Amino acid sequence: MRITSMNELPATEPLKPSILRQSPEALRAQCGLWGEKSFRVTQLCQWLFERRHYHLETMSNLPASFKTKLREHFDWQLPSIASRLDSADGASKILVHGKKNQFIELVILRYAERVSLCVSSQVGCKLACTFCQTGKLGFFRNLLAEEIVGQFILANDVVASEGRAISHIVFMGMGEPLDNVHEVIPALKLFTAPDCFGLSHRRVTLSTSGIVDKIMPLAQEVRVALAVSLHAPNDELRSSLMPINRRFPLADLKRELLLFQKHSGDLVTIEYILLKGINCSERQAKELVHFLHGLRAKINLIPFNAHPGSEFQRPDEDEIRSFQSYLAKRGYPAPVRYSKGADVSGACGQLAAKQQAMLQDLPQRKNIIRGSQAQ
Ligand code: SAH
Ligand code: SF4
Repeated sequence: MRITSMNELPATEPLKPSILRQSPEALRAQCGLWGEKSFRVTQLCQWLFERRHYHLETMSNLPASFKTKLREHFDWQLPSIASRLDSADGASKILVHGKKNQFIELVILRYAERVSLCVSSQVGCKLACTFCQTGKLGFFRNLLAEEIVGQFILANDVVASEGRAISHIVFMGMGEPLDNVHEVIPALKLFTAPDCFGLSHRRVTLSTSGIVDKIMPLAQEVRVALAVSLHAPNDELRSSLMPINRRFPLADLKRELLLFQKHSGDLVTIEYILLKGINCSERQAKELVHFLHGLRAKINLIPFNAHPGSEFQRPDEDEIRSFQSYLAKRGYPAPVRYSKGADVSGACGQLAAKQQAMLQDLPQRKNIIRGSQAQ
């Protein structure tokens, strides 16, 4: 494991709109007001969306007068790296300076054929799932669309130096994305719109703990892959693990997933953390099959990633295999996904709180906790 720390000044509050949340239409409208020729906007959009390049100074084909207007009108500040941890298995966990002196975590996951980026949508999370480190942190604030897109641009810059590009985005970092739809949806539109970054809707996955009343509003605005953190097959257990289940019980969740599926035609991914002695007995596998009935879903089984202070444990291999084979025999193949980057706490969904332990020697630590609470 390699640790680098870059002590850069935290971002300041901008007074101008961020370039990172601008769509081609918005840029066209603004440049039209300045009387700029439309091919100039096309050139600008090529830099931003095709090359994923947000450094105005090095946009070599734009005239100085146009750059001056762009500089004066938009905020071009990009997130900067506060610290970086590289794991042996190709994951990098990066902590960036966010607005308001807070830190935002992202994880880059390198595979042979793709490079995935795990982004955060909030600082902390309100939903307090008992197994989740972010849940234990509490909630500080929603991220802005530009802070979400900023994670993508920064991660691209990191992997561009390796001759690669981010090919997939998963919203599985800190926070519940459907608890921040006003900022998450504009970011999703920029990621997927053909005239923006143009990632296929299959390559952008939003993971939710099941904020049922936001699933269809999301689907009506933008097409992305949906993953649901299920983790328990009955209401009693799910409510004890995930308090959101008291507000949106399983029957409501299933009804909405069926509606989503009817609307989008897409498979839904069901994420199921395996917690020793809690949720992976044969009876629970049977209940899970019952829940899945009628839903076109793929299931990912995720052995629990232990963290300090957690009361849960990962099941033994035998328990994992028998749960998996019960599902497979009933027509639900369920691969076991071991998280990459475990040595840097890079496992998606585990990003946040471990920073406290990992970064305890770094000066930024104070801001991670206190800076956040000041909001
Ligand atoms: N709030 C959203 C997205 C972020 S969490 C959600 O809950 O879906 C991303 C995933 O990581 C979720 O499936 C979450 O349940 C899972 N996760 C959280 N803590 C984990 C842990 N300790 N081990 C394994 N997966 C975990
Ligand atoms: Fe929030 Fe997701 Fe963690 Fe639950 S699992 S506390 S919803 S980040």
